Amino acid sequence: MSRYRGRFAPTPSGPLHFGSLVAALASFLDARQARGAWWLRIEDIDPPRCPTGAADTILRQLEAFGLHWDGPVLWQHERNDAYAAALERLKDLGLAYPCSCSRKQWRDYAVYPGWCRQGVQEPGKPVAWRLRSDLGLRPVVWQDRLFGEQRLDPAELGDVVLQRKDGLWAYQLAVVVDDADQGISDVVRGVDLLDNTPWQRQLQHALGAPQPRYLHLPLIIGEDGQKLSKQNLAPALPEQDDAVRPLLHAALATLDQAPPRELATAPVAEQLRWAVDHWEIARLRAEPHCQAGSVAP
Ligand code: GLU
Repeated sequence: MSRYRGRFAPTPSGPLHFGSLVAALASFLDARQARGAWWLRIEDIDPPRCPTGAADTILRQLEAFGLHWDGPVLWQHERNDAYAAALERLKDLGLAYPCSCSRKQWRDYAVYPGWCRQGVQEPGKPVAWRLRSDLGLRPVVWQDRLFGEQRLDPAELGDVVLQRKDGLWAYQLAVVVDDADQGISDVVRGVDLLDNTPWQRQLQHALGAPQPRYLHLPLIIGEDGQKLSKQNLAPALPEQDDAVRPLLHAALATLDQAPPRELATAPVAEQLRWAVDHWEIARLRAEPHCQAGSVAP
């Protein structure tokens, strides 16, 4: 096995849809072609957003599409101690500060203006913890494998929340701690997360964690022209084999891999074998992609 270690990290706020299949598939193919490992992490740090049973559905859907992961599943709800230790470290470094401000107070600003950096504005009120974006690496520059060089000044993004006022951990902190602890070398995910990457790289830098490579995937839009998402009620992926096969083929076509037409009726294992052998990022175009039609069997 190579040193490549990828991951798929769904939030179980609902079942997987075609957009999530494309992300899972691309990260799986990239890892398997590199003879690397592919790990699964369930990002359930926000329990109110995660209906009971959604995570189990996701595991079954991945199995149905033949996307078998390595190692044990990492569940974020079990990772409290690791996130708390990382926050303590950032506090010790003077990079995290408590903030009592509410969104309403800074609604006239594009990003939080950092009022609590010099001390909590309203002592005694509940506080969130924020990362100081004015002390870290500036600008953050990295090379995305599809979108090319990215350059962003974190000061333009504001001081991201690490822990919310209600005590829940923020995605940015959790994802960085987990990617580091899991030894992830390659992040492959949707372009909707591209804007989060500068914060994550800044956090990696602050915590002395290695910086993975990034490949952000093109936006996938449905037949109605809308981004495929749970909010837009994208349909859940099927689990029955006869429905899974053409949809897997459609996902490969959506990733510009031009799978042979006759592969659409082949068992998932056969489609995936073909796809691992032929996976080529150079084929992938960065512009938004419409969901490719599933080929009728
Ligand atoms: N949990 C995130 C989502 O489902 C993905 C996080 C990531 O890949 O970094 O959108």
